[in-house]
Amino acid sequence: MIIAGGKVYTPAGLSEVDVHVNEGRIQSLEPWAEPSARPELVDARGLWVLPGAIDAHVHGRDPGFPEKEDFGSLTAAAVAGGVTTVLDMPNTLPGVAGAEILEAKRREIAPKAMADHGLWALLRSSSTAEQVRELGEAGAIGFKAYLGYTVQRSTGQVLYTPGGMDPDLEPPASYGTVARLAQELAETGVPVAAHAEDPSVLLSSTGRIETYADLLASRPAAGEAVAVAAMGALARSLGLRVHIVHLSSRMGLEAALAERAAGAPLTLETCPQYLWLTEADYARLGPVMKMYPLIKTVEDREALRAALLRGDIDSVGTDHAPHTDEEKLRHPLGEAHAGSPGVQTLLLSCLELARQAGDPLAAVPWVAEHPARIFGLYPRKGTIQPGSDADLVLVDPNQRTVVKAESMASRQRNGVLEGQEFAFAIRAVYLRGEPPAPGRGQFLRPA
Ligand SMILES: [Zn+2]
Repeated sequence: MIIAGGKVYTPAGLSEVDVHVNEGRIQSLEPWAEPSARPELVDARGLWVLPGAIDAHVHGRDPGFPEKEDFGSLTAAAVAGGVTTVLDMPNTLPGVAGAEILEAKRREIAPKAMADHGLWALLRSSSTAEQVRELGEAGAIGFKAYLGYTVQRSTGQVLYTPGGMDPDLEPPASYGTVARLAQELAETGVPVAAHAEDPSVLLSSTGRIETYADLLASRPAAGEAVAVAAMGALARSLGLRVHIVHLSSRMGLEAALAERAAGAPLTLETCPQYLWLTEADYARLGPVMKMYPLIKTVEDREALRAALLRGDIDSVGTDHAPHTDEEKLRHPLGEAHAGSPGVQTLLLSCLELARQAGDPLAAVPWVAEHPARIFGLYPRKGTIQPGSDADLVLVDPNQRTVVKAESMASRQRNGVLEGQEFAFAIRAVYLRGEPPAPGRGQFLRPA
C-alpha cells in the first residue's frame, strides 16, 4: 500500500512524501510521485497524514461492566477518532492485580479489539513483590494505585467508597504501598501512576452534595497538589518513574513542576475536559460533567493550557470512563457516578486547541510521540518513520467536525464535548496498514 500525495507529519513540519507500507510497517518515505490508478494506492491529496494517536488512559470496562462499555465499543470509538493504540486501566473485574488476571483479560478482549492495546496493572494494599514482578513479566504497561479507593476482597472490584469497618473491603492502596514495593516496581521499568487526589484532604469535607459548588468544596485542588507532591517525593527518594495522570488544577501542576525541578522523574498527563471546560459549563451540561478529579475553574484551565503549550505537560489522555445515563443522573449529585466517555474526540480536540494557539501540529506529540516514549512503545508507535507500525490517520484540514452524540461509537454517548466544533475531520484510519476491524488489535508489551 502507498499513501500518496498527502502531507506527512514529521517533527520538523509537514513533508510532501508518499508513505510506502509493507506487511503492516512503514517501509519508506518517498518524494511525491504522480498518483496513478494502481489499486494499492490511497489518494491522500489535500489531506494530512498523522501518526495514529495513543490514548494512554482509557477505562474499557471489560471484563465486568458491559452495560457501560466493552472492548469492542471502546476500540470502535477509539479508531473512529484516529486513536489506534489504547492503554486500558486495571479497574475491570476483577482488578488486574495479578499476572493470571492480566492474561485472562488479554484473552477476553482480544477478539473484540479494533485497536492495539496495552494493559495497566493494579496496585492493591495487599499486593506482593512477587505479583509486581509477575505483572511486569506479563507485559503490564504501567502500575496504577487508586489512592482512597477500596477493593472488594470477594470480587476484586475497585470501589469508590472508603472501607470503614466492612471486612470485605480491603483498605485503599497508599503511598506506603508504593514505597513498600518500590524496588520491584522500579525493576519492571514501567511507570507508576496514582489517582493523585489525597484521600485525607478529600475526606476532610463531608455532607450532602447537591450542587457543583458542593462537589468542588468536597474535592479541593489541594488534594491533587498534596498527592502529586507526595508521589514526586517518592519518585525522587525511591528511584521510581512516576506518571501523573489526569492533572486537573493549577495547584497540582505547580506541585508537579516543583518536584520535577527538584529532580523527580515525573511525566505529566492532562485530559481534554480540563483543557476545554470549567465549572461554568455545569449549567449547560449538568451531572454528566461529574468526574474525578473534578473539572475546576477558568484559572485552572488556563494554567493547564499554558503548561501544555509550553511543553511542561507531556501528554493528553482522555480518562475515557463511561457510565450509563441512569448512573450519571442519580440524585443527589453526590450519588451520580464520576467519569465520562472521551476517547473518540482526543485527537480532534487536541488539534483544535493547538490550532487556536497558532499551530495545530503542535498537538501531535501530545498524543503520539510523548505517550509512546513514556510507555516504552517508541518508535514502534507514535511516529511516521521507516520501521514503525503503519498506524496512520488521514485528517482533512478543510472540513469541520461538530461533536454529536449520534456519531459516537462508544456504548455511552453522554460525553462532555458534545456540541464542540473542530476545524478538522478524520477521513481514514489504518492500523498496521489495514482498516481496523474486530480482532485485529494486538496486545502491546513495553520494550
Ligand atoms: Zn481514569
